[in-house]
Amino acid sequence: MDGTNRRTFLKTTGAAATVSLAGCAGLGGGGDEMTIVAGTAPGFPPFEMKEGGELVGFDVDLLEAVVAETDYTLETWSEFEFSSLIPALTSDKIDVIAAAMTINDERDQTIDFSNPYYSADQSVLVREGGDFSPSELSDLSGHKVGAQEGTTGADQVKKLIEDGTMEESNFNTYGSYVLAVEDLQNGNIDAVVLDKPVAETFAADRPVNVAFVVTTNENYGFGIRTDDDDLQQALNSGLSTVKENGTYEDLVNKWFGAQN
Ligand code: GLN
Repeated sequence: MDGTNRRTFLKTTGAAATVSLAGCAGLGGGGDEMTIVAGTAPGFPPFEMKEGGELVGFDVDLLEAVVAETDYTLETWSEFEFSSLIPALTSDKIDVIAAAMTINDERDQTIDFSNPYYSADQSVLVREGGDFSPSELSDLSGHKVGAQEGTTGADQVKKLIEDGTMEESNFNTYGSYVLAVEDLQNGNIDAVVLDKPVAETFAADRPVNVAFVVTTNENYGFGIRTDDDDLQQALNSGLSTVKENGTYEDLVNKWFGAQN
């Protein structure tokens, strides 16, 4: 929507401009209250990763395309460990999270989400050519398993610990899945639990294999503060625009084309 439409929108919905602007971090001191800062956690290919020092990935392209359809301007990207993204959002360091973040009840108590933009299951990675070939979660019993801290993959391992299938001392957590997969390659752990599209990307580039899939039907959403209704609405309408105009499909082909 252009500036005129936005003003009309604000008028017709009765929202006061001051209220809609209050939620923006406005970092950088540009004085443009419609400026937003995005946060992500690289090391989760192909959603977000560093290439030649540059932040790239599906989430990066998608959020930029979505914001371009709104009255907001994306000022910059800030990088965090995944588990620090929600605290960064609630403390106004960033205004939106684009990090393949699964929409779930626990997170929904602290933040809000855009409409879903991607669906994924969990999966288990093992070393290629190794003698450990689990086919279900209970096979992880007695083995060292890794996951990135604060993820739904880590939640899967915690459930196994809670129900007595796995020992807590066999669970290693990492600040990034890249470190977890390196530990897997080095033989320090035997399996990594992580989102299937990311596991497949690691498997294409490194000597690791997807042993099996855990159907979880997760949906990723952009995270926003609970009081940022205008940004939430703008992102949702931008998201439907990029789905309708073919941009979304182009980005899926660009980042997942080689696998599908
Ligand atoms: N989708 C998973 C989650 O939300 C993993 C996200 C990530 O590691 N970037 O927990």
